[in-house]
Amino acid sequence: MSNPHRWLRVTRALPCSVCGHPDWCMTSPFGDEVICCREESKLPAPLFDGWFHSIPPRQRRMPQAVRAKAKPTTPHAVKDFGAELRRCVEAFDARQRMRAAASLGLSHEVFDAFPVGFNETLDAMAFPALQLSPPAAIGIRYRKVAPKPGALKWICEPNSTAGLLLPKHRPDHDDMIFACEGPSDTLAATQLGLHAVGRWSCGIDARQIDCLKAHAAGLSTPRIVVVGDNDGERRTGARAADGVAQLVGEAMPHATIHRLQPPPDIKDVRAWVIAGASREDVMNAAKEVRRAS
Ligand SMILES: [Zn+2]
Repeated sequence: MSNPHRWLRVTRALPCSVCGHPDWCMTSPFGDEVICCREESKLPAPLFDGWFHSIPPRQRRMPQAVRAKAKPTTPHAVKDFGAELRRCVEAFDARQRMRAAASLGLSHEVFDAFPVGFNETLDAMAFPALQLSPPAAIGIRYRKVAPKPGALKWICEPNSTAGLLLPKHRPDHDDMIFACEGPSDTLAATQLGLHAVGRWSCGIDARQIDCLKAHAAGLSTPRIVVVGDNDGERRTGARAADGVAQLVGEAMPHATIHRLQPPPDIKDVRAWVIAGASREDVMNAAKEVRRAS
């Protein structure tokens, strides 16, 4: 239950928030995203035979285990994500940046590229979920610096909405934009000198696609690299990333879409960077997606 990106099958105790049924559909652990296999949306998840839905805060359902663990650590839900984020950015001093970087196995300098902060109460890095039109923080996700064994590593600020983690600067004209799964992969790709943005989960929703389009606005021939995790036999991360590549391709017909998976025995981009991957290794692994014409 420590991985917020893992999809959970709905059950009788945790039915689908969209169709209400106890089978087929899947939910994110925090209940903010659902792949419903009955109710259509504008965002098909063809590889799951369903459709992505963003669930408004009041309608979210999450498993007892997640709720029980998430509650005591998040007593006060913030209403103004932007103000909370600014507070966290100010609190991210040199000592905490060194600790946080060490916990990720990355360089502390990568934090400079993002509006990332630190929450002292949670002893956690604070990563914003952003939108661009209008520009705003619409959620915060925390990653504990020293989680106890078995405890949740990731905590979501209550009432957060899914958004992108964006670097402070816009892409240069020849940048490829690496759309990674989650903040730590985004930081790892950035450490290699790549232009990376972070998806909220293994999927993507319409708001994040709009945000990605706005971030890439001004590029004459944008190149988007959709990065997936390697997560076991069911290949959930890879299949979700294939779906993301298809959705982004449909939403950005002038963009060149690439797919990237780390080598099979490596879990994600962060593990790959720690194992010594170079910028060229990663660039060369990005395969252009052929569109059906
Ligand atoms: Zn459903």
